[in-house]
Amino acid sequence: MEEIPEDQRAEQALHRLTAYNRSLIEASLDPLATISPDGKITDVNSATERVTGFSRQKLVGTDISDYFTQPEKARAGYQLVFREGQVQDYELEIRHRDGRLTPVVYNASVYRDEAGAVVGVFAAARGITERKRAEEAVHRASAYNRSLIEASLDPLVTISPDGKITDVNSATERVTGFSRQELVGTDFSDYFTHPEKARAGYQLVFREGQVQDYELEIRHRDGRLTAVFYNASVYRDESGEVVGVFAAARDITERNRAEEEIRKINEDLERRVTERTAELTVANRELARASQLKSEFLARMSHELRTPLNAIVGFSDLMAEEGEGPLDPMYKRFVKHIRDGARHLLALINDILDLSKIESGHIELRREEFRVAEALAEVLSVVNPLASTKKIEVASAVGPRVSVSADRIRFKQILYNLLSNALKFTPECGRVWIESSTRDGDVCISICDTGVGIPPEEHEAVFDEFHQVGLTTKGLKEGTGLGLAITRRLVENHGGRIWVQSEAGKGSRFSFTLPAGRAAAVPVPEVLITATPHAGAGGALVLVVDDEQPARELLVSYLESAGYRTETAGSRTEAIEKARTLRPEALLLNMLAWSHAGWYILSELKGSPATANIPVIIVSVLDAKETGFALGVAEYLVKPVNREILIRALAKHVPRRVSAHRAAAETGE
Ligand code: ADP
Repeated sequence: MEEIPEDQRAEQALHRLTAYNRSLIEASLDPLATISPDGKITDVNSATERVTGFSRQKLVGTDISDYFTQPEKARAGYQLVFREGQVQDYELEIRHRDGRLTPVVYNASVYRDEAGAVVGVFAAARGITERKRAEEAVHRASAYNRSLIEASLDPLVTISPDGKITDVNSATERVTGFSRQELVGTDFSDYFTHPEKARAGYQLVFREGQVQDYELEIRHRDGRLTAVFYNASVYRDESGEVVGVFAAARDITERNRAEEEIRKINEDLERRVTERTAELTVANRELARASQLKSEFLARMSHELRTPLNAIVGFSDLMAEEGEGPLDPMYKRFVKHIRDGARHLLALINDILDLSKIESGHIELRREEFRVAEALAEVLSVVNPLASTKKIEVASAVGPRVSVSADRIRFKQILYNLLSNALKFTPECGRVWIESSTRDGDVCISICDTGVGIPPEEHEAVFDEFHQVGLTTKGLKEGTGLGLAITRRLVENHGGRIWVQSEAGKGSRFSFTLPAGRAAAVPVPEVLITATPHAGAGGALVLVVDDEQPARELLVSYLESAGYRTETAGSRTEAIEKARTLRPEALLLNMLAWSHAGWYILSELKGSPATANIPVIIVSVLDAKETGFALGVAEYLVKPVNREILIRALAKHVPRRVSAHRAAAETGE
């Protein structure tokens, strides 16, 4: 192998090293340059060629500072390297020959010869365009955030973990009266009326990560207060560490004001309601008193009116019957007028009294369960005379087991009102019938007729007081116009309802509902249906007790026409005396005789064993059934008493013993 001389080998080694350095330099993506102490470029790599747009040949020997946008800054940097031996992250901007700019940071250091003398500078640039772009983006984003924050009408604030304000928007400046400069760095809780509550809320945000609708009150520097709701949440850095709290307030002063307003309105309303209630209570009391007075007045009036009317009706009845011999035809007509007029007046008084009693809530319902057929039979026997006069066929399709739970007397009154209307408004030879059905625990009873009918627009109004259908009932307007009003109230008091289906000229169908009774197993007492008043009284003795002579006389005439023997008593002592000595089969007693002495007579009779068993039938204008029954009366009839009803009631209590008595009388025992 050929010997290579020493100096040649050294040269070779140097050459290799240089080549190696060169390729290292060339391989770098960063622009590199070496510069002589007088600032001239001594070498560059191709990255520098790319970033300046000049070739190596062109660059070498030229002044390095020519290639930057700020040549003096480049020169200063260069001097710094000489002074310090090195420099790091020195920012410069390289200008490409075509004008394009590349922001870079330079790391540079001096290099020396073997003797340690500085022979040049080695500078490596790193393109910072990307970083710049990111920074710009951040800048833009924060500017954007800033304007967002500024644009917000709600006071916004960011707070550091130690509770100091780091930023605010102008809404916060407005609401506190302090500028941003004044606010930043101060304790946020200073601006609230309740700093400890503000701090508690702040701690809550840290604990929970966020908080919503936290109520606080901001105090303006001039003392003005603003009620707000805070929504706040923590915000974190890239590593997830909490760096602060972002809080947004919503002014609720307006809302609070509205609420306050509403509260005031409510208070005002309440006050007015209370006042009004007080007024109404007074008015109610006055009304109640007026109604009480009205009831008392009506009761007194009706007593005063009914007593004489009773006599007029009763005696005109007797006269019309011509029992004492035939009447002159003209007198007979007159008597009929008297009788009709008096009856009408009586009916009116009764109805008004009844209505006022119902309206003032004074009627008490004595509910019992009974068969409809039974009550119906009683009512039918009362209306039958009218039916036969008008040759109207009356039929009932009510089954024997249908029963209701109602006040028997009021139930009969309902039936009576509807049936007498049906008969009244049905021309001769028509038909009237009664039907019933049971559904959902209610019995529905319908009274149907083939009469004049009622046009649909009157269906509601007929139930009003004093309402009578004009034209359709031509010539038949003889009632009081109160019957249906009373009937409806009675039905409703029982918890039922009443309505009419009808067409003018095609008859009517009045239906009402009442709670059904359990189908009673009690057989219908025969006497009620078949009792014929004139049969079987057979001389049983009845004592008639009344302080008014005409009243006694009338009752006596009723009783005697039915075959009873009678005795009368016109005073309290006489009554007791006669009851004891004569032992009548029954006693008719007027409750109001001798201003309520009837009650004393009753209790005396009931209190003595000798007279306790005599059935007492009260015949009175005073409707005090409750008390009467409590004191043990057998029947309570309210004046004016229809003869048939009186005789039927009597027959219930003086039934079979009558014949025994008579047999005894006949055999002289
Ligand atoms: P009144 O029968 O005493 O006039 P009501 O209150 O009983 O009073 O009846 C009111 C009105 O309703 C009657 O005057 C009559 O016009 C009408 N009306 C009631 N019942 C019938 C019916 N069955 N058919 C036709 N019209 C009737």
